[in-house]
Amino acid sequence: MSVDLRLRHERIPSVYQEIHPPLDEMTAVVEADRCLECGGPYAPAPCTAACPAQVPVPQFIRAIRDGRPDEAARLIFEANILGGSCARVCPVEELCEGACVLTKEGRRAVSIGRLQRYATDVALSHQLNFFTRPGWKPYSVGVIGAGPAGLACAAELAKLGYEVVVYESRPEPGGLITSAIAPYKQMKEPLPAEVAMIERLGVKVQYGVTVGRDMSREELERKHHAIFLGVGLGADTRARIPGEELAGVWDSLEFIEQIKRGALPKIGPTVAVIGGGNTAIDVARESIRLGAQDVMVLYRRTEAQMPAFKHEVKAARKEGVHFYFLTAPLRFLGDGKVRQIECIHMKLGAPDKSGRPTPEPVPGTEFILDVDTVIKAIGQEKRVEFFTMLGLELEGGLVKVNEGFQTSREKYFAGGDCVNGGATVVEAVRHGKLAAQAIAKFLKT
Ligand SMILES: Cc1cc2nc3c(=O)[nH]c(=O)nc-3n(C[C@H](O)[C@H](O)[C@H](O)COP(=O)(O)OP(=O)(O)OC[C@H]3O[C@@H](n4cnc5c(N)ncnc54)[C@H](O)[C@@H]3O)c2cc1C
Ligand code: SF4
Repeated sequence: MSVDLRLRHERIPSVYQEIHPPLDEMTAVVEADRCLECGGPYAPAPCTAACPAQVPVPQFIRAIRDGRPDEAARLIFEANILGGSCARVCPVEELCEGACVLTKEGRRAVSIGRLQRYATDVALSHQLNFFTRPGWKPYSVGVIGAGPAGLACAAELAKLGYEVVVYESRPEPGGLITSAIAPYKQMKEPLPAEVAMIERLGVKVQYGVTVGRDMSREELERKHHAIFLGVGLGADTRARIPGEELAGVWDSLEFIEQIKRGALPKIGPTVAVIGGGNTAIDVARESIRLGAQDVMVLYRRTEAQMPAFKHEVKAARKEGVHFYFLTAPLRFLGDGKVRQIECIHMKLGAPDKSGRPTPEPVPGTEFILDVDTVIKAIGQEKRVEFFTMLGLELEGGLVKVNEGFQTSREKYFAGGDCVNGGATVVEAVRHGKLAAQAIAKFLKT
């Protein structure tokens, strides 16, 4: 290894080292004092307006400044039951902090995410109970999936007094927060404490139950007056090119889940990531942290069309990830283990249904890249078979809902990734909350 590489590797953090470490009390109070407490009775502060969960940012920041972190946490959890997890995983640069007025004056945004983490950590460590249940209502709601959408919906319904049972295939809650979100953003904590808070509201969670396999549609409908689907998306989409079965070719979700379980995947010095979304950037940054010396992202359109957040791309570049734009893989080559990728240059053609230009191969521009590891991050499958079994109308493989998150069958509501095709945790929380309010209205009619 050259001296330069050794120096670079000495600076590389572990894959588990938190990217946004916690603030201590003194730093939190000083940071809170930077907030201008924008907004008023007729217009919310820009940071609150930019938050899908409508967390009252200036109010909770003032409570921290005044030495009342428990009150700050109450305000946060009231708006977002996963406020501790969101403090770690939200793309704040695109949401609250991106909207902070201080940035308009060329100053650094208030560290809203880290302040939110400070307050929620204090409250969760004291096991504070913020919510009391009203009297029971004689209705039962079945929630399928204990991911962010399902958990937020369940909590909101329980706060309104409904009986709620959550069915979850996996042995633990959290959906993609637990299995897929970058380990340097969040491992498990504080999700278990947030789920404990939801269970204290009376919500029952049954793990290891896959609806459609362990419980029939008829049984589900017999047991519950309304049903919320928060089932997210499925496994990684296949690239459908030769060589996918070679050793060293990974699916992104399998790769990340191994890291999150503490079983670090073995990767070689040269890693190629296929895809242009946030998952592609995550696995590229994880590969750097696992010690790869050369990490490249291959994307078939240009940087301008990349769905990944700009701040994530910038951070990946800073860590040494480099990009091949207008490049698509044709096949993975190797002798049982992947050694090379045959690629082709692309050009942009006419816009597709989403309005983005369609990438088209340029004949005669094939070339070979030497690689040790490939990670495919080109999207997740949709759960079409499951929704068809439930008799629901679909749109592009996603559940079709009205503005109240009600599906084509009136008893069924849906939200989160299975409706929007994959977005953020806080967006799934928003769907879950709004769907719960719509379910309450439906049950009253
Ligand atoms: C690699 C990756 C990184 C990400 N990073 C971020 C990030 O940093 N920040 C951010 O805000 N967002 C991030 N996201 C997006 C975010 O994780 C999702 O938008 C969010 O988790 C969606 O929540 P959900 O509840 O709709 O679905 P999910 O989180 O997918 O949860 C669905 C749950 O339903 C369960 N389920 C499915 N079918 C059944 C069934 N038939 N019966 C019972 N249970 C079932 C599943 O086991 C799962 O637990 C990331 C996504 C990925 C893939
Ligand atoms: S926009 Fe910035 S300064 Fe204004 S209330 Fe929000 S965090 Fe405070």
